[in-house]
Amino acid sequence: MVIKFYGTRGSVAVANKETKKYGGNTTCFYVESNSGDAIVIDAGTGIRELGNYLIENKKDTIHLIFTHYHWDHIQGFPYFAPIFFEKSEIYIYGHKKDVTAKNALIYQMTKPYFPVALSELPSKIVFKELKNRMKIGDLLIETIVNNHPDYTYGLKFTEKKNSFAFLTDNELFAQNNNTPYEKFVDFIRGVNFFIHDAQYGDEIYEQRIGWGHSTHSQVMKLAKDAGVKNIIFTHHDHASTDKFIDKVLKDLRNKYPGKNIQAAADGRKIILK
Ligand SMILES: [Zn+2]
Ligand SMILES: [Zn+2]
Repeated sequence: MVIKFYGTRGSVAVANKETKKYGGNTTCFYVESNSGDAIVIDAGTGIRELGNYLIENKKDTIHLIFTHYHWDHIQGFPYFAPIFFEKSEIYIYGHKKDVTAKNALIYQMTKPYFPVALSELPSKIVFKELKNRMKIGDLLIETIVNNHPDYTYGLKFTEKKNSFAFLTDNELFAQNNNTPYEKFVDFIRGVNFFIHDAQYGDEIYEQRIGWGHSTHSQVMKLAKDAGVKNIIFTHHDHASTDKFIDKVLKDLRNKYPGKNIQAAADGRKIILK
């Protein structure tokens, strides 16, 4: 499978020279299975560019999974070009705990916030419930409930011997948690790599407790406890500059020489063969 990041920023998009290296689009990433299934995770602003890729590569059948419906994970949807093509078949997966994916998108595309309503789109859009365990082609997708202010799912993808987990918008050591820390350790054990929310540096976390995000050090503890070597930080805070992220990586690489520690960047691709 091929994994590509299209949006790695948390909370709100940023566009300035200090954030150019890791990128400023909000959460969106793409998984293409070995059999060519097109799977999109979240519809932050990064989905705009991904839409162009899918059209150019004639991917008319698209699976779009929402981890949750916070603004930074849905706001790019009205600019996702495939929704405006009649030939597109888009299967949208999300939970229906507090609101359904369909309603989240209807609310977002209501006048005066957006001129075209969801019901007016020419593409075929089918809503499905995100299950604990489901298959798209040969790709197995499993979920875990994250610790976040509104209901949110973490995901694990497995295709033959390859697997990775994607846990964004997750506070690993939340006080009023949905999921105890040990369950996350079990969830990621054995994956080739995992991508995890690391929105905050240690110095600011005290002021952000309960906001539903983790620090780089907390994510490293998870990697250590689960014995996973390859770690990718994502959901970078909108206030984090490239310089800050580079410094965090340098310090942690010195502290954990046996680990491969990276930061997700818009446009970066990973191939698992
Ligand atoms: Zn978010
Ligand atoms: Zn969120």
